[in-house]
Amino acid sequence: MTTKEYLIVGQGVAGSLLAFMLWEKGKNITLIDNAHHTCASKVAAGICNAITGKRFTKTWLAEEVFPFLHHFYQHLENNILNTKFYYPTQTYYPFEDIQEQNTIFAKSEQLTWKEQVSFEAPDKALEPYLQNTYGGWICKGACTIDTHHLLARFKDFFAEKKLYLQDQLDHSLLKIDNNTNHWLYKDQSYQNIIFCEGTQIQKNPFFNYLPFKFVKGEIITIELDTPLENFTQIINKGIFIAPIGKKQYKVGATYNWDDLSWQNTEQAKEEIETKLKKILKTPYKVIAQEAGIRPATYDRRPFIGKHPQYSNLWVFNGFGTKAFSLVPYLATQFIEHLLYNKNTIPPEANIERVKRLFLEKNR
Ligand SMILES: Cc1cc2nc3c(=O)[nH]c(=O)nc-3n(C[C@H](O)[C@H](O)[C@H](O)COP(=O)(O)OP(=O)(O)OC[C@H]3O[C@@H](n4cnc5c(N)ncnc54)[C@H](O)[C@@H]3O)c2cc1C
Repeated sequence: MTTKEYLIVGQGVAGSLLAFMLWEKGKNITLIDNAHHTCASKVAAGICNAITGKRFTKTWLAEEVFPFLHHFYQHLENNILNTKFYYPTQTYYPFEDIQEQNTIFAKSEQLTWKEQVSFEAPDKALEPYLQNTYGGWICKGACTIDTHHLLARFKDFFAEKKLYLQDQLDHSLLKIDNNTNHWLYKDQSYQNIIFCEGTQIQKNPFFNYLPFKFVKGEIITIELDTPLENFTQIINKGIFIAPIGKKQYKVGATYNWDDLSWQNTEQAKEEIETKLKKILKTPYKVIAQEAGIRPATYDRRPFIGKHPQYSNLWVFNGFGTKAFSLVPYLATQFIEHLLYNKNTIPPEANIERVKRLFLEKNR
């Protein structure tokens, strides 16, 4: 029986990027995925935005995360995967009325990251298509990721190197070898297992004590009759409209904490379209609708770290609404800890913070 250094479970954005970074460090890995049966990463709009909403809320760790992600996705695109999936852009927040314009101008005085934001007068070119009478503000340094394409390309990348298994990992078949402390699974032995299972973590007997707060999201894809020449940025006004090329835009998303099924609903489509019609003046048709569940957590911080009882079982999960922004940077921090035992997992994300829940469950 041969031994591998790492088994990574789940090929969403978390598992794909972590597996890639470990491979790039020369580590001997296997990535296993059940053909994306429940994969939030495939549904995501792939938007990365450092500052959001009327309160200029800054993404957690934005100053570290954003410079890193642009550099990382470019490196992947140009030097590794050799395919286009990364689209740098900006996000435009149109003002609702003069009052909102004044409030936001006043709030911007307190901004600590002023260079990330600018204010725009109404754009005449957008006038025929968008309700845009009062101008708006812009968050610079955003991007969108073509998530389907990135995941499909990564799957091929690992499969070509014979590092990919398409299978459902059955936790009940995992056995620890008491002599080596390695994990045995089917005909293979692994020094470490890292679980990146998204919402399927609820079926994982080792980590199902972690307090998640899953939230369903639905998203539609629309096609416009006429392409909008100057409409290459993300528009955000209660919902986002994100260009994905060929006159098509992803529009969404909804938030539902009660219905945690992966099915599309007519209600979500209506909710999105009602908001869309308040901004968009031009005709469109809906060409797709998708639903997924975000692996969000109670305190809105990821779950990264070592199992309280087994020193070679790890979790990398809980990226909520911001996976495509947070995963590149946090994967590097996690790997510094895995390989060199450095204290690099941010305490807010380290599962040490909820260890008492494990102890209570196993009392
Ligand atoms: C509508 C919607 C819009 C979103 N938009 C954005 C956005 O614009 N920007 C952003 O950053 N985030 C967005 N998100 C959130 C983002 O999609 C998630 O945070 C992210 O995809 C989670 O990635 P993950 O790799 O942790 O999990 P997942 O993507 O769910 O991947 C987990 C993978 O593991 C597999 N798996 C699980 N258990 C097993 C097992 N036992 N054996 C084998 N395989 C297994 C699953 O099938 C899946 O393929 C959005 C989410 C939704 C629903």
